[in-house]
Amino acid sequence: MKAAIFDEPGRPLRIADVATPEPEPGEAILKVRACGICGSDLHATTEGLARPGGVLGHEVAGEIESLGADPIGDWGVGDRVFVVSQFSCGECGWCLVDQPHNCENLAHFGALGPDEPDGAYAEFLRVRTNDLLAIPSGISFETAAMVEPLATGLMLIRDAKLDIGDTVVVIGGGPIGLATVLWARFFGARRIVMSEMVAHRLSLAEAMGATDTIDASAITDVKGEVERLLGAEPDVVIECVGRPGVLNQCIDMVRQGGTVIAGGVCMQTDTIDHLGAYAKEPIVRFPQTYTKAENQFVIEMIAAGRIDPSPMLSHRVTLDELPDAFEALRRPTDQCKVIVTP
Ligand SMILES: [Zn+2]
Ligand SMILES: [Zn+2]
Repeated sequence: MKAAIFDEPGRPLRIADVATPEPEPGEAILKVRACGICGSDLHATTEGLARPGGVLGHEVAGEIESLGADPIGDWGVGDRVFVVSQFSCGECGWCLVDQPHNCENLAHFGALGPDEPDGAYAEFLRVRTNDLLAIPSGISFETAAMVEPLATGLMLIRDAKLDIGDTVVVIGGGPIGLATVLWARFFGARRIVMSEMVAHRLSLAEAMGATDTIDASAITDVKGEVERLLGAEPDVVIECVGRPGVLNQCIDMVRQGGTVIAGGVCMQTDTIDHLGAYAKEPIVRFPQTYTKAENQFVIEMIAAGRIDPSPMLSHRVTLDELPDAFEALRRPTDQCKVIVTP
């Protein structure tokens, strides 16, 4: 089959012919129909965390091509499925209570680490049937591939534990920031302020539910602008950038005793002004993962028409076009969620 291979940092992905995977017991082979390009793939290939020789891609929807022995669940060839982006054993205590994100033998597919199985920048993907969710007939593969970033945004808002009437600031308008705006709106935030450098992403944030936007390329005092807009310091600040210094800005921005969520996954060691933080006593959380149930919730809310993630989808590329599209996303861009359709 055709797949996009990561060789080493500084080199674009390479399209190659590799062996088509075969299913082991409990597994399925999916024909990949849509796979989102994720910021963590860009990070991991820059920092050298990704597995050399591996295939990235973990935001995937597809069709079951074949099944190994003893699948977990009532699956059949041709079923349309979304994959919770993990490889869970299906046998440990956590898997048996349908919490595969806590699996004792958990691996995340997508080659983001040295031991991770291959991902979905390929024609076919090997998955555990334990990690599959059915895609309702009204949802396209492309939309289903966005369930993963939507579940990440949902996880950030879950840990923000919004109270009725809370004001929320989201720093960074990439797909995760936009998904976070969507859920802040869904769960009843009074005001949702998006701060972002790229003008196009500010208009996307409005389409996703932001009540106010700050063009951080033009305004240096973002904290002052937030207070001017809200008339007070915000209750919740959610960091969706992942660069050194931003989390500290969020702590500086939030109200006394407010909540800061680290969502951007900064890859460097970061500096925090501890004295400033002590004086504020903020709650700072670092949520790591979503549950299978949260992914299912996202699918149901799309199917019911209660959320619309379509503004996030900006471009579609083929597998052959993926290496160039992937490199283009490393530079400041108008693009948002780019979906690979092999
Ligand atoms: Zn992702
Ligand atoms: Zn398990």
